[in-house]
Amino acid sequence: MPGAEEMQGIMSDNDDESKHQGPNTQLARAGHDPSLYHGFINPPVVRASTVLFPDAKAMEAHSQKYIYGTRGTPTTDALCEAINELEGAAGTILVPSGLAAVTVAFLAYLSPGDHALVVDTVYGNVRHFCDTMLQRFGVEVEYYDPSIGAAIETLFRPNTRLVHTEAPGSNTFEMQDVPAIAAIAHQHAAVVTMDNTWATPLYFRPLNFGVDVSIQASTKYPAGHADVLLGTVSANAQTWKRLRQTNNALGFCGAADDAYQVLRGLRTLGIRLERHQESALDIAKWLETREEVARVLHPALPSFPGHDIWKRDFKGTSGVFSFVLGVEHEADFKSKAQAFLDGLTIFGLGYSWGGFPSLALHVSLDDRKVALPPSEGPILRLQIGLEDVDDLKADLQRAFQAVRPKPNE
Ligand SMILES: *Cc1c(COP(=O)(O)O)cnc(C)c1O
Repeated sequence: MPGAEEMQGIMSDNDDESKHQGPNTQLARAGHDPSLYHGFINPPVVRASTVLFPDAKAMEAHSQKYIYGTRGTPTTDALCEAINELEGAAGTILVPSGLAAVTVAFLAYLSPGDHALVVDTVYGNVRHFCDTMLQRFGVEVEYYDPSIGAAIETLFRPNTRLVHTEAPGSNTFEMQDVPAIAAIAHQHAAVVTMDNTWATPLYFRPLNFGVDVSIQASTKYPAGHADVLLGTVSANAQTWKRLRQTNNALGFCGAADDAYQVLRGLRTLGIRLERHQESALDIAKWLETREEVARVLHPALPSFPGHDIWKRDFKGTSGVFSFVLGVEHEADFKSKAQAFLDGLTIFGLGYSWGGFPSLALHVSLDDRKVALPPSEGPILRLQIGLEDVDDLKADLQRAFQAVRPKPNE
């Protein structure tokens, strides 16, 4: 049955050619061939549930490309094909959020009685899923140290079926030796998943480093404008069928309008990331020189513990990182963090990142098991947006001013 789900698995004809193209050329062309739709540069937004068949026989045999809206439309296919090309994947599914992208991947490869190894610096809502639903379904999750590398071997059990990686880790940005972990996992026949939202496939391509399933919250940089929720899960040839079957069974799908917006975002992803990278690195280096700052958590800084792995494996950095505000007494951490955040006017206070505006928040890491966060003060996470860097520094300067003890304190 040549349903849309099969079509998503087929690599585009120009795959060989696109291997030799630069990333921005690839982003400008991936996913849609204008000659297939009257020459229009962008694909149509096809909003659909029902697809009509010409006759009963065609309906019985499903002998046409599109069957039903949940199984894909020309718009969602255009995005899936673009992501396949960027990830080097055999197939990609769209789901309604980045969180759903991780949970669907776990549901695809885990069964009752299985054991899963999940990095301790995992995106917090994934930890919640593991500790509630996966536990209820009889899957045992063990959190491992992101710096473990090949020593992850000691944690394997006969029933270990999945290893989940995320590098850099959420909020504290610890790096992982992904190829070393993947090699061990494959010796034990476990599937390796990676949440690659931070780097995007432009700066790290998980499937080239031994990962089986690459996950992105396209909500972040691919969408880029803080107005879309969407997730993608991209699998290699060995793991694709199971992923596709799971998603068809669950009935999750991406909406055509959202897929269109993310495809539109991809066209400018390369230049936006360059700007996020440059501004964030500039600000990270500037923060390192400030006496109010105890530590900057950014993988591209030579002072950062995982820097060597980042340099070995990654092609760039995005715009989100954290720093530790130096605060003497733990009792003051929260009030100082709040004073800093309230001192900001250009940076917005809000969750998520990857959009055009700069954002800040006070990181909460109470549930870490083995990768304990820095303790010299409160951890503040910054998403450096597309504004002018001097204005952002001036804003941060005002916030530092707001944290200073008043003369009578
Ligand atoms: C934001 C984020 C997600 C979740 O994405 P949503 O679309 O907001 O659900 C998953 N993983 C990482 C690493 C994220 O930063």
